[in-house]
Amino acid sequence: MAERNAVPPPEWTDEKIGIKVRLALWLRDVVGEGNVFTKAQLREAFPESAQVERRLRDLREHEWEIETKLTRVSLKPGEFLFAHAGEPLWDPATRAARVARRSPSTRVRREVLERDGQACARCGLRAGAVPLDVAFVVSPVHGGAADPDNLITLCPTCNVAVKRAARPPGEEEVWSRMVGLSEGEQSRLLAWMALDRRPVSAIEEVWQLYRTAPISQRNALKERLALAVSARDEGNEPL
Ligand SMILES: [Zn+2]
Repeated sequence: MAERNAVPPPEWTDEKIGIKVRLALWLRDVVGEGNVFTKAQLREAFPESAQVERRLRDLREHEWEIETKLTRVSLKPGEFLFAHAGEPLWDPATRAARVARRSPSTRVRREVLERDGQACARCGLRAGAVPLDVAFVVSPVHGGAADPDNLITLCPTCNVAVKRAARPPGEEEVWSRMVGLSEGEQSRLLAWMALDRRPVSAIEEVWQLYRTAPISQRNALKERLALAVSARDEGNEPL
């Protein structure tokens, strides 16, 4: 087998390396490309890992092709086909390249924050109200690059929502939703577009702050506001 790296790869049995890397090595060295293996064999090889099937799915993100009966009808339940090896995860050079591809430089980060007006590009919350992340539009797993065109400023809440999408929405998909808005909403949307951000109301900013506070603090704040609101409703002086 042709290995470009000079350092010999570790053994799959080496418990000092991560389970995902060990799994890749096990597939390559024990199962072999093109062969079928069973769930029982997988569990026998990694008895200590309760998550081994999940790790197997994680390998797909690194272009490892592992099929089940869902993708290949000839397989029986509990059988997997190791169709094709992907990235050599045990190779330090591959790891370094992946990390580099995944993290934009400080300069690029600053450029993106500046461009997005130091506010979440999705919901409009500003830096100060929430910590902002510079996130990928198309994930590096799907070939997205760490350059400004593929980066976006997001608050933590929006980052979670956006990360799950493998692809950005298509233009027609967005347009069909746009034409479905009322005339008033279309005018408002156009104003936000001209501004290149969505103005966020004070209540939304406070809500976001509240949601990012620890549970104990949230409970205290909820009680304080409940007291203040009920005191006011009874015509007393608010707290
Ligand atoms: Zn947001």
